[in-house]
Amino acid sequence: MNAVADAVAGGMLPGRVWLYSNYHCNLACSYCLTESAPGVDRRALSHDRMVEIAEEAHDLGFTDLGVTGGEPFMVASMCETVVALARILPLVVLSNATLFTAARIERLQPLAWLPAAIQVSLDRPDPASNDEHRGPGNFAKVIDAIPKLVQRGIRVRMATTLDPAVDDDERARLCHLHRQLGVSDDDHVVRPVVRRGRARTAGMGVDALAGDLPPELTVTADGAFWSPFGPTVRDGALDTDLLVTRTTRPLSTPAAALLRLVADRPPGSDAQLGIR
Ligand code: SF4
Repeated sequence: MNAVADAVAGGMLPGRVWLYSNYHCNLACSYCLTESAPGVDRRALSHDRMVEIAEEAHDLGFTDLGVTGGEPFMVASMCETVVALARILPLVVLSNATLFTAARIERLQPLAWLPAAIQVSLDRPDPASNDEHRGPGNFAKVIDAIPKLVQRGIRVRMATTLDPAVDDDERARLCHLHRQLGVSDDDHVVRPVVRRGRARTAGMGVDALAGDLPPELTVTADGAFWSPFGPTVRDGALDTDLLVTRTTRPLSTPAAALLRLVADRPPGSDAQLGIR
């Protein structure tokens, strides 16, 4: 085995490589870590570049892929890109689930037969409270999209970014809702708001340092980072406190740098905040 495969097998390094496909989004959520919105700098990775990174990740011994942004499905070719990626390694793609037209779902159909999941965001069990942070109509679009994906056999995970205002009753109703929509308990991911990007500007969320975050190699158009919570944006500028290397080609360069950084960390030392 090579160094990456050894580190993944030994629990020193998570197996997933994250790809920041783009930074623009049709929404502009109040706690967005990347200050995403329709008009921001796209900082995009091309289809060919994402496939190239995935193939290198596979060859190095990484075991999984993740795609995030921005909203990945703002990119016209993203359906074909995620299908291509899932043919290389198991994939999760994060989405706000507001762009799943019938045509797009049709193009995503191959995911039903591949090791892939679409992780959609839903924070609260009621339209008014959910849409307060994410924008009008968000709740309705998400609960419309999830069953359509599930009916196609596409695995859906639901991600809840927890607001301190959410009480036990709301959490229970949210869990009831995701079960009704066809999302299993194992596929409901709950995590706190991380105080970066717009969340920092608004004074929301928890501070997370490198030691609180799993060291998941994250590749962007601007470099490779410690975690998908690294390449965030504040006041229009990319955060670089969690930058590992500016070089991302070949992928072995940031992978080796990340391995050096994690060499002395005990496995599991990043689990305190539950940000996984
Ligand atoms: S949190 Fe997600 S859906 Fe909301 S603006 Fe940011 S990228 Fe878009």
